[in-house]
Amino acid sequence: MRASRLNDFSRLCIHTITTRPWSIEEAIEKYAAAGVTGISVWRDSLVGRDIANIGNRIRSLNLEIVSTVRGGFFPNIDETARKDAIADNIQCIEDSSVLGSPLVVLVCGASEKQDLSESRDQIKAGIDAVLPYAQESGVKLAIEPLQPMYADTRSAVNTIKQANEIAEYFDSQFLGVAVDVYHVWWDPDLESEIQRCGKQGKLFAFHICDWLTPTVDMLNDRGLMGDGCIPLSRIRSWMESAGFSGYNEVEIFSNKYWAGDQDEFLNKIKEAYIKHS
Ligand code: ZN
Repeated sequence: MRASRLNDFSRLCIHTITTRPWSIEEAIEKYAAAGVTGISVWRDSLVGRDIANIGNRIRSLNLEIVSTVRGGFFPNIDETARKDAIADNIQCIEDSSVLGSPLVVLVCGASEKQDLSESRDQIKAGIDAVLPYAQESGVKLAIEPLQPMYADTRSAVNTIKQANEIAEYFDSQFLGVAVDVYHVWWDPDLESEIQRCGKQGKLFAFHICDWLTPTVDMLNDRGLMGDGCIPLSRIRSWMESAGFSGYNEVEIFSNKYWAGDQDEFLNKIKEAYIKHS
């Protein structure tokens, strides 16, 4: 199936980290003025702010809050640190509720000091501990599988299949999966696992950017849509045929773009979104 073309910005969401040099206040104004319709709010942008006010400001400009980024980072060899992580996730859920954000993205975490299997057990335990708070607050949680190159410290959940298995294990309508093309584009099971996730009603989010060759920084060298090798519109067509109708969320960490003019970058995002997403 070929993806229908995107010809407007009615499903364009931008993650605040994408325009990191802008404060949350600037990002809100600039996105709204540019005709962007969704915003995913990174927690660092909320530090020192009145969160309810920020939520009201976003809504007053007809922007939709798509998600809060991010919770997770459950595994640790130290039990106190694991408890702290759970407390921080509960705080993240509460903040999301105050902000008016319907979803928390979970970057589940990992530790190079222990086996991946141990980290995976701790991720399940962490989700088990925070899921009741999510349900009570009406805020959903999305497990985001991360590239295996991050399996040492960022996530022991590395494929959609693993994320699906965890989500199915808990069988809660408050727990689903965030599909980020940067992390999963290479997976031979991608299409079938997207379908599986969609069948369960667990496709909660879709993050887009591109994979650059060569990638010069493992974290902060993501490309604009169309500048790399990710078959983005094909993956989007799989999402849509699996029932996903939410936002296409642009999430780009880039030392290169952060060093440049953010207004120009925002224009490039809009252009790439229509041409290459
Ligand atoms: Zn993402």
